[in-house]
Amino acid sequence: MKAVFLCKSGQERAHLWREHFGRAAPEIEFRIWPDVGDTGSIRYLVLWEPIDDIATEFPNLEVLFSTGAGVDQFDLTKIPDDVRVVRLLDPMIIAGMREYVCHAVLTLHRDFLGYRQSQAVADWRPVETRPANETRVGVMGLGTLGRAVLDALQPFAYSLRAWSQSPHDVDGVQCFSGSEQLQSFVSDCDILICLLPLTAATRGILNRDLFDAMPRGSGLINVGRGAHLVEDALLAALSDGQISGAVLDVAGDEPLAPEHPFWRHPRIQLTPHIASVTGTESAAAVLLDNVLRHERGERMLGVIDRGLGY
Ligand code: NAP
Repeated sequence: MKAVFLCKSGQERAHLWREHFGRAAPEIEFRIWPDVGDTGSIRYLVLWEPIDDIATEFPNLEVLFSTGAGVDQFDLTKIPDDVRVVRLLDPMIIAGMREYVCHAVLTLHRDFLGYRQSQAVADWRPVETRPANETRVGVMGLGTLGRAVLDALQPFAYSLRAWSQSPHDVDGVQCFSGSEQLQSFVSDCDILICLLPLTAATRGILNRDLFDAMPRGSGLINVGRGAHLVEDALLAALSDGQISGAVLDVAGDEPLAPEHPFWRHPRIQLTPHIASVTGTESAAAVLLDNVLRHERGERMLGVIDRGLGY
């Protein structure tokens, strides 16, 4: 059966991807939403926003690509079991996350949140900084992005640790795994970075119990998903000093409402889900590589485990 690929994404991006496919693999028919044609011929679909009735709309779908690194926007129970669900991890996403997290860790470690407040009141007051090698930085999630940021943080000489579902070994990183080791992992994190996928097991994981298990005055960076964080718990922990500052790239309800207390909180640095974004050219190459792998009967990169949800 001919390879027919449907793209439901921004028009500009979709046309650039179609040009890339047309140049590199003209044998693949690349359609752009809403010009879907015969839906029964579509074997590959890429999108962000899920389509409700995917099983009946696209009866011969073989692969569903997310346009991002996560798949938590999909209700996996509505996607037929034989459809492979694949997340998109292009080099731009990895590079962007390395940059963002290094900046966020340095912001908390060197207390740039405090200097921002000092500058606002013309207060020239140096604050003593703990050396990097005495600062413990922990990453929740030891996947593609967790590993990339740990690698990017190595030159700063922080004391690095990480937590994952299953046990791993990473040079220069103290590794923890499973819910039974979560407490001992966070109890030694001066700066905690959430880079977990959003699943039933990780929703609300950044909560008051977790903050209380961290050293007093720790910092938090959330670059996972907004629903990892219990927002009121963070506000309470900031106001009593258990958490000293937070860098948040994601929020429960995006875009964050203008009246939300995070906007004006002096100890929160907020960005609008831009830690890393899918590149256009680089993502086209990753997508096409995966389609060609599938056509050759090879394993694609980024296929999720439906049972685990990531
Ligand atoms: P990944 O390669 O799938 O890795 C996920 C990691 O999380 C794995 O190490 C996994 O453990 C661990 N994990 C999953 N569930 C767990 C649990 N219940 N307890 C402990 N550890 C658990 O994912 P990734 O590519 O690194 O991406 C991570 C997430 O980053 C994405 O899902 C997305 O939500 C977020 N993201 C955010 C942005 C942004 O701009 N803010 C951009 C891209 C991605 P195992 O290794 O044992 O399986």
